[in-house]
Amino acid sequence: MKVDLIIQNGHILTMEGKGVGFIENGAVAIKGNTIQGVGTIDEIKRAYQAERVIDATNKLVMPGLIDAHIHTGIAIFRGVAQDMSNWMQKGLWPFQKHLRAEESVIGSMVNIMEGIKAGTTTFCDYDGRMDLIVENYRKIGARARVAELVNEIPDNVGDLPVGELYPFDSSIGNTKLKRNLDLYENHHESEDGRISVILGPHGPDMMSLELLNEIKAQGDKLNTKLHMHVAQGDREIDQMAKRYGKRSIDFLDEHGFLNERLIAVHLTEATNEETALVAKRGAGMIYCAGSIGIIDGLVPPVYHFIQSGGTAGLGSDQAPGNNCNNMFNEMKFAAILNKVKLADPRVFNATMALRMATIEAAKVMGIDHEVGSLKKGKKADIIIVNLQDPSFFPIYTKPIRNIVPNLVYSARGHEVETSIIDGKVIMENRNILTIDEISTIENAQKVAEEIAVRSEKDILEAKSDILDMVTEGLL
Ligand SMILES: [Zn+2]
Repeated sequence: MKVDLIIQNGHILTMEGKGVGFIENGAVAIKGNTIQGVGTIDEIKRAYQAERVIDATNKLVMPGLIDAHIHTGIAIFRGVAQDMSNWMQKGLWPFQKHLRAEESVIGSMVNIMEGIKAGTTTFCDYDGRMDLIVENYRKIGARARVAELVNEIPDNVGDLPVGELYPFDSSIGNTKLKRNLDLYENHHESEDGRISVILGPHGPDMMSLELLNEIKAQGDKLNTKLHMHVAQGDREIDQMAKRYGKRSIDFLDEHGFLNERLIAVHLTEATNEETALVAKRGAGMIYCAGSIGIIDGLVPPVYHFIQSGGTAGLGSDQAPGNNCNNMFNEMKFAAILNKVKLADPRVFNATMALRMATIEAAKVMGIDHEVGSLKKGKKADIIIVNLQDPSFFPIYTKPIRNIVPNLVYSARGHEVETSIIDGKVIMENRNILTIDEISTIENAQKVAEEIAVRSEKDILEAKSDILDMVTEGLL
């Protein structure tokens, strides 16, 4: 059979089965945007002839990584809210209140570039102006499963004293839900299915029960997932206690939100009983190890969630919280933080971390029939990783194999040389082919500097820990 592309002579991780699906000296055949065959080089050569062949000698061929939770729209504020208390109100908000939608889109593109350069091929992006940001994905050629961030709190909520109940405004909620529904209408399954849309309720504390119920009804009608922050911090628990006298998970269970439609992000404040309940009800979980580690100094109960039978994926969250949107970083953090939390080096092994950035994340997002592993019939989202980088040295394949531990604990993302998304080569020799990388960064830097000028008064008035550190000459 004639195909468009064969990648051959590489070690392959298919991520099929219960482990990593290792094939020594294998090959992958691709036609159009679809994988036609995966196997040993002899099997593939016998069955297929290709227009183009990529030699993957000394390379690793594997599914592209899935970033199951990212907010690229605020990437332009990376590094402004670290090592501080009240990071959102005092660090991020003084900048964010001056952000214009078009500036957010410009920053988002650099963030997507960052992900692609570290092997991410699917971005589950969740932002306030996804109607604009979605064009970045269209242009750069990445796979995206996007949601509009729906809440009904005024934009200036960051100006309220910490601890005060958020005011709800139903007209804001209606506008944002309409934007999410329009996004679905205009972009769902567009670009040959490369871009898909789900619903994005911001969190149970961020809107009235009426709006939450309306989103749930829309989710049932469209048969789609709800991507929602749940028990994401003490701020949320405090808001829920003040408004309803309940904790988030009890509240969501009582109102019928805990089911297979729900993608519960963070669960930072969930108790073990609450975590087990979310898993038992069939909802998925996204664990953002770097973000919650840096912002809150906490390790959410993801291991307990998985032990309770739940399916969980990894996400990099937002740049001003996490600092980097690199799934290699997430895999490593997830494994190490949980080993430390449980004081046991055997838990959260490298295979588990890698599965949570590939096939398990695809299951949580409801796209495992298309991506997350290399299998005949799935979309051709494939990365080729250079094993001759010092970070992979040495490679052993007998009597033990160390490629996966080296990938999770040592590699950093720069080892990814080639990225193929939906059958198209998007990055080759680390150059992204679909956009001009240098002018994209230069333009975004200029915009960031303009925002800093407009925000200066608010930044000074916030009297944040980071400002103190700058004043004291520590940064
Ligand atoms: Zn988030």
